[in-house]
Amino acid sequence: MSAGGVAAFIGLGSNLGEPERQLSRALVELDGLAHSRLTGQSPLYGSRPVGPPAQPDYVNAVARLDTSLDAFVLLDALQAIERSHGRVRGERWGARTLDLDLLLYGDRQIDTAVLQVPHPQLHLRAFVLVPLHDLAPDLELPGLGPLAEYLPQSPGRDLWRLPQRTDG
Ligand code: AMP
Repeated sequence: MSAGGVAAFIGLGSNLGEPERQLSRALVELDGLAHSRLTGQSPLYGSRPVGPPAQPDYVNAVARLDTSLDAFVLLDALQAIERSHGRVRGERWGARTLDLDLLLYGDRQIDTAVLQVPHPQLHLRAFVLVPLHDLAPDLELPGLGPLAEYLPQSPGRDLWRLPQRTDG
């Protein structure tokens, strides 16, 4: 990690507009953020949507970013990347081309109206916990304890690992 940098973990999700392409573009864009460097990416997972029914399945992953951006500046940057991926028209609410969540920002705990870290749903969602554990199995979740304690015993039918891409 660069001097003064923080390890931030970002959750990525997409279920529209060729989700795997959305995620691989987003990873390049994360690596291109100022004062930041992508230092890890989990395998891709497929997951069943949690929200409204009749949505396509999601593709999820987690990335690690070493960054010296302030957490709120990073959140703004994530939202700018989301916007740049646009939305596919005519789809039911809930489906999205790209969702980026700031899961963890070093060992910081932040609780404001616009930003909560650790992300409030992090420890409840297998599609976040499993790829986060792939990247950082010994992680401590600030205020919550060891990540491993939250891992689902069996991820079950709602989460599956996707074949590794070889074309980047
Ligand atoms: P959504 O697009 O449904 O994930 O929700 C985005 C909203 O969640 C934004 O208005 C953010 O201000 C807020 N938010 C709060 N904490 C976080 C976080 N850790 N990561 C991303 N968005 C967050």
